[in-house]
Amino acid sequence: MRHHRIAAIPGDGIGGEVIAAGIEVLQALAARDGSFGLAFESFDWGSDYYKAHGVMMPADGLARLKPFDAIYFGAVGAPDVPDHVTLWGLRLAICQSFDQYANVRPTRLLPGIAGPLRDVGPADLDWVIVRENSEGEYAGQGGRSHRGLPEEVATEVAIFTRAGVTRIMRFAFALARSRPRRHLTVVTKSNAQRHGMVLWDEIAAEVAAEFPEVTWDKMLVDAMTMRMTLKPRTLDTVVATNLHADILSDLAAALAGSLGIAPTANLNPERRFPSMFEPIHGSAFDITGQGIANPIGTFWTATMMLDHLGEAAAGQRLMRAIERVTADPALHTPDLGGRATTRAVTDAVIAAIQGDNA
Ligand code: NAD
Ligand code: MN
Repeated sequence: MRHHRIAAIPGDGIGGEVIAAGIEVLQALAARDGSFGLAFESFDWGSDYYKAHGVMMPADGLARLKPFDAIYFGAVGAPDVPDHVTLWGLRLAICQSFDQYANVRPTRLLPGIAGPLRDVGPADLDWVIVRENSEGEYAGQGGRSHRGLPEEVATEVAIFTRAGVTRIMRFAFALARSRPRRHLTVVTKSNAQRHGMVLWDEIAAEVAAEFPEVTWDKMLVDAMTMRMTLKPRTLDTVVATNLHADILSDLAAALAGSLGIAPTANLNPERRFPSMFEPIHGSAFDITGQGIANPIGTFWTATMMLDHLGEAAAGQRLMRAIERVTADPALHTPDLGGRATTRAVTDAVIAAIQGDNA
């Protein structure tokens, strides 16, 4: 019997609702499989913790997370705590300290879900966006002077290093090579951002030479939004900077039907530190406590965590269960235009796992 230890950080808002559902589904999966066990330990860090203690997690928080095999994260964000506090105090602190430099965001139109694009079905929209997750525009560099005065100046400095760009480019080319179409689109804005983005273009060409099996092309990020909406079939694997990919992946999630189904993995590919798995969405306080949060993104995220833990067969079983459930409109939550509850979707996914005989 294989054992995996997972740190659960539900966080704020609907984070608690979807992570509870995700743990139930994962335990049902482990029971169905019989060859591995999952031990969850839950951490109550987030905005309530911040209001009580003045920090989003305790001083030894990272040290406590480090021994785990993976981190299963909900979302952070509360109406009465500034977003930069919640984000930098927990999620980004984990991503940066654990060198989770590869943020992987699969996007597909799942069966039964009609995205907003006309005449586009599951076969036409199947992407993986790789987001550089350790530097770029979110390096936290910059400052403000002359605060409050008419002369005030604020800088927001993006950092691109040869080492940082090379490792994300290698990761993206290798991922592209593992997918059937073996195609990578490198997104930049090198016409206007003529230092860091030109470095991206140069390193893309260098790394491409290491991956002759992969075809690739380049796009400027503004034109990329048009290509995603008008020619989705021409895309497969995509790599972009921290900021650009952040924006493109919300667009991707919307084109695939709802932010509520989109998953993401923050990977430390070298496995020196635990990787973190989370739905893309935030704490959604507009629907918190109503029992209608879509848990599919958190379930899909769990398939990525299972892959990472070496339980790919269980991950595939879970993905089959998810697709069986999304195919039934009676099991769509309100964000997908339906009336199902988090509870009903969770029960249906568990039933599909139990009934899966592959
Ligand atoms: P959000 O993702 O929380 O919500 C955007 C919209 O999508 C809302 O209308 C919400 O109801 C809906 N939605 C999101 N997830 C859903 C789900 N699973 N099921 C059904 N509907 C869903 O983004 P926001 O409203 O911009 O931000 C709310 C808070 O979350 C802010 O404090 C923000 O900083 C934070 N946030 C955190 C993360 C994160 O922790 N990774 C990501 C994004 C936003
Ligand atoms: Mn985002």
